[in-house]
Amino acid sequence: MTNSSTHNEKAKEAMRRFRKRFPVYVRQYEKEWRAANPEKRRAIEKKCRDKVRLRVLTHYGGNPPKCKCCGEKHIEFLSIDHINGGGSKERKIYGSKLAYSIIRRGYPKGYRVLCHNCNQALGYYGYCPHKKK
Ligand SMILES: [Zn+2]
Ligand SMILES: [Zn+2]
Repeated sequence: MTNSSTHNEKAKEAMRRFRKRFPVYVRQYEKEWRAANPEKRRAIEKKCRDKVRLRVLTHYGGNPPKCKCCGEKHIEFLSIDHINGGGSKERKIYGSKLAYSIIRRGYPKGYRVLCHNCNQALGYYGYCPHKKK
């Protein structure tokens, strides 16, 4: 009798070997799977994006990440801001892939975490009312 955990290991190992030997076939299969399951695919991609975003926010905004100006902690309100401006230019280049690009570039200096309120105020007025005296 085989116990199920060694059986699982064997199946995983077989899959690994299969992927290694037939990468083109596996890629084709994955492509078809993505085309056949657009919703699942979107959900997976979103989960992945959220994870990447959280990693970048935590790197620049602390753990848990918060707005550098007002201390906002809701992750839905937070954004990655380029300290020396140029944020809109970067958004044009990287779009929603900004977080990915930051990781790929090895977490370059010059970013901070701001909430959308503070970010907008700084963008429009050049200052945040939280900091106005
Ligand atoms: Zn804020
Ligand atoms: Zn503020």
